[in-house]
Amino acid sequence: MLPSLGIGRLIKSSIRHVSRKRRGGGGVVLFSRCLCVRTGDNGSDAESTTPPPPPPTAADHYDVVISGGGMVGFAMASALGKSARLSDRRVLLLEGGAERVWDLSPDYSNRVCALNPTTQHLFTSLGVWQRILDMRAQPVKRMQVWEACSEAMITFEGDEERPVAHMVENDVTLQALKSLIPSHVQVEYNSRVSGYQLPQDTSSTVTITLKNGRTISTDLLIGADGVRSGVRAAMGVQYLGWEYDQMGIVATLELSEPTDNTVAWQRFLPTGPVALLPLSEDKSSLVWSTTKETAQHLLSLSDEDFTDALNRAIWDDKPRDARLESVHKGWLKLLETVLPWTNEGVVRQLPPSVTRVMASSRASFPLGLGHAVHYVAPRVALIGDAAHRIHPLAGQGVNLGFGDVATLLETLEKAVLLGADIGDERMLYEYERGRQRHNVATMTSVEALYRLYTSEAPPLVLLRSLGLSAVNLITPVKERIMSHANG
Ligand SMILES: Cc1cc2nc3c(=O)[nH]c(=O)nc-3n(C[C@H](O)[C@H](O)[C@H](O)COP(=O)(O)OP(=O)(O)OC[C@H]3O[C@@H](n4cnc5c(N)ncnc54)[C@H](O)[C@@H]3O)c2cc1C
Repeated sequence: MLPSLGIGRLIKSSIRHVSRKRRGGGGVVLFSRCLCVRTGDNGSDAESTTPPPPPPTAADHYDVVISGGGMVGFAMASALGKSARLSDRRVLLLEGGAERVWDLSPDYSNRVCALNPTTQHLFTSLGVWQRILDMRAQPVKRMQVWEACSEAMITFEGDEERPVAHMVENDVTLQALKSLIPSHVQVEYNSRVSGYQLPQDTSSTVTITLKNGRTISTDLLIGADGVRSGVRAAMGVQYLGWEYDQMGIVATLELSEPTDNTVAWQRFLPTGPVALLPLSEDKSSLVWSTTKETAQHLLSLSDEDFTDALNRAIWDDKPRDARLESVHKGWLKLLETVLPWTNEGVVRQLPPSVTRVMASSRASFPLGLGHAVHYVAPRVALIGDAAHRIHPLAGQGVNLGFGDVATLLETLEKAVLLGADIGDERMLYEYERGRQRHNVATMTSVEALYRLYTSEAPPLVLLRSLGLSAVNLITPVKERIMSHANG
């Protein structure tokens, strides 16, 4: 859960280049025809040349349709519903899955996200944050990140008033958002979209075909339909990405004793990072990214053997190179001499040990990286994992999605204020530009961290140890990292 480093300036110029190229020459049109895309049941997409379905009736026209009711889709629905400027707009959210009856159980769910202060700010403005706190959320007041190959570590400090983040179960976030959706926003479950027909400009509207044959039209389609987005496929945008040869194992853990459990721990192993994230005095959530082979092995172990393997991953050191150790020690001494005032409060704490993994709480997810080169087209915008997918090591994925929601809302409100069409690509482009600056910078730095820490090559171990130790002692640099991670 290391906050990503702000090295995005390197790629900003390439975004500007792509953007200029796309809009240069009097407005290059993305689509030379109306695109019809049929989405498969598993979210995979297949282009179709079948004739368009019968046109929707006036009752089936909406100002905005959100495709996908995950955390990001529901946050968008909530934001649109609560906006005074957009209160007269007809908004529909389509979710392919069934509506779940959900009650807060005493057992913690194994799907948890670290919500950063920017998300907290958005949720406070939507009136959702208090609902989350009323259910449950654990503040993270400190983050300690260290590695198995050297003594280097970094800490990020928050406090009671301003925690670094809050650990919140995904179900709690979703429930809070759903329970506060304004009544004029329509939500339809069991409404899987089977095809999107996108216009080449704003002279016509988007047509959406549901699996049950019904058609709906809209002035603005928001794709919040996750990693295998059918909306993105219909846009035909380039999607850059790859699968890591890694799985993320999640689980709920019981700690050896109740403590003031408000520290998020992350240790980088050569196979990937392992993180213990606080849930309560004696429970933590696990996110353990590791090779597919190791993940398979870990999932096959008994609960007792898995707990032992986890404690070893947290506590055991890798064989260390004595020369690197001595250079690192010398570097630390030098830093303490040159920057004596910065060392205050940087204390290495010992992580908790785990007594057991809660029964049946282990699960695993494939990890990958992906980014849509464009987030918008005439009458379409992508948000959340539909637009970008990131390694969970920095705990940024859904926070980036909530950032998309905040910026898209601002853009649409501005369009209404100016009397513009909310599906106008020129307006939507402001959203794309604003978010890509932030998202691409975050993704680039998370990717760099991932590559840096999955190497055991001595020069790299030395370099990253020296770098991490230096950053740990230079407060302004740490503050910049935190400020970027917070959106
Ligand atoms: C192990 C792990 C740990 C993570 N930890 C963190 C963390 O600490 N912090 C963080 O910020 N992020 C974290 N993430 C990332 C986070 O979970 C995702 O970014 C987030 O869940 C994406 O939400 P979403 O709403 O964009 O997409 P999804 O949750 O994928 O929702 C998409 C929705 O669209 C619906 N849908 C899809 N296709 C259709 C269709 N054709 N018609 C109708 N509906 C459709 C689906 O049913 C689904 O409900 C983690 C991820 C993993 C794997």
